[in-house]
This record gives sequence, C-alpha cells and structure tokens, in this order.
Amino acid sequence: MSWFSRLFRSPKSNPQDTLKSIPIVKFDPSLVTTTVKADIKKNMRLIPELNTSNFNRLYDIALESVSRGGKQHLLCKALKEIEGISSSRAAEITLSLHSKANSLIDRERSKSIGIKHAVWMYSGVPCMLNPKSPTKAELRQDKAHSSANGKRYKIDKGLLLDGKWTWPGVEDGCKCSSRAVLSEN
Ligand SMILES: [Zn+2]
Repeated sequence: MSWFSRLFRSPKSNPQDTLKSIPIVKFDPSLVTTTVKADIKKNMRLIPELNTSNFNRLYDIALESVSRGGKQHLLCKALKEIEGISSSRAAEITLSLHSKANSLIDRERSKSIGIKHAVWMYSGVPCMLNPKSPTKAELRQDKAHSSANGKRYKIDKGLLLDGKWTWPGVEDGCKCSSRAVLSEN
C-alpha cells in the first residue's frame, strides 16, 4: 500500500484533515514525464471550476505541487482562492489530481523497470467522493472496486470495472492502490 492510500484508512477522515497529515516524501521530479504532464492538464480541463482565465497559472502550480511530492498544499491554497470553490472542494480536487498523477507515475515507473502486472488493492474505505450520501454511480463504482480486490491485471491495460478500463487511484473518489507482481512477467 502506498503512502497515499494509507492516508485514507480511516473512514472518518475528511479531505482537509487528510491534506494536513500528508507526510513529506522524497520524490524524484523527473518522474513527472511529458505523459504525466499531459494527463494532469487533461484531468484539469475536465473540472469545470478550473475553466478560468487563470488555468495556465493553476496548471503550473499543479505541476509544481505534483513534481515536488508532498506539496499538495500549494495547489489546495491556489484553488481556495478561486471564487466558488470551498475549502473542502479545493481539497477534494487536489487529492483527485494528485491521485490520478501518482497512479500514472507508478505505472510508468513499473513499466520502466520491466514490471508488467500488478494486483488491485481495495483500501476498505469506500471509493466515493461523498460516502455519506453517495450517488448511484458512486455505489456502483465502489462495488466494482471492492470486488476487484486481489485481482491481477496488465499494467498497460488496467482492469475493466464498471464498464471502463481503469487503474487504482484514477477514478474520482478512488482510494485503491496496487501491488506490483514481480514474477510471471
Ligand atoms: Zn477504488
């Protein structure tokens, strides 16, 4: 289990508390490849609140936040300054963008050292943005992710869950992680 997913082990944790407790992790900025940068930008474009004239500035901050590992507060602070974004929504967006970026960084790193398979690990905390009043889609996603626990998949392909190919940490609200399979490659 990665440090990131360990943060979500308590079902009582809320995104803001989680951000405060994020440990400083040694991080190699070169892991943020061109592919990772493009993915961060694509994911940011999908968030309506970020569609402002300040998008490029926010993207630069997001990049710095991911590249420096453990610097989520940089992005969260900038998001809170946007009109209409609450503290909890800023934390939610920050965690989501970091989770997706970390998932891709993990996959690229695994591939670069010849690891082709991984095992899906469900954290036990619901894969939902709002577990207190989940939408039908969130309930479906959580069910699919919990039943994926322990399943082996090809890292470049992912797992077909809830009708789409995906990886741990990529969907909004997902707290799953992965374990690399070191043999049978
Ligand atoms: Zn999940």
